[in-house]
Amino acid sequence: MENWRENQEIIVMEGRIKVPYTWAAGEVGTRYLETLRDQRKFMGTRCPRCEIVYHPPRRNCPDCFEECEDWVELGSQGELQSYTVVRRHHPQLSPLPLPFAYGIIKLDGADTGFLHILSDFQEGELAVGSRVEAVFAEEREGNIRDVLFFRPVKGVD
Ligand SMILES: [Zn+2]
Repeated sequence: MENWRENQEIIVMEGRIKVPYTWAAGEVGTRYLETLRDQRKFMGTRCPRCEIVYHPPRRNCPDCFEECEDWVELGSQGELQSYTVVRRHHPQLSPLPLPFAYGIIKLDGADTGFLHILSDFQEGELAVGSRVEAVFAEEREGNIRDVLFFRPVKGVD
């Protein structure tokens, strides 16, 4: 029997999948986003056993599964742990003027980093370990984009 796969042409079908969805942020997520929206403050939770401060906050410690009931106020500045600069426009992935960056930021007081956008930086100004600060939106809605982006802390050497 002929192997029909061997010389088969490749037929490409073009399409667009749009999957809008909503879900409740939960008790921990809601408290976090309310505080971000209403007070411009980042909050984390601390594991009572490991003493790791998680940001974003976790209900349970992923290491020891203990419930993290202690809330900790974090700084709005932190350390850039990793980043990549985006220099080419992409219609779905370019929320800010180019260049911008995606980075992992460990806020002051937290032991874990989180992903956000960086903007308002000069060429060569970003580095692993650099200090960055949050820039909040004037109109906040209760989501992580209430922080428009992070930028290098100016005037600190
Ligand atoms: Zn733990």
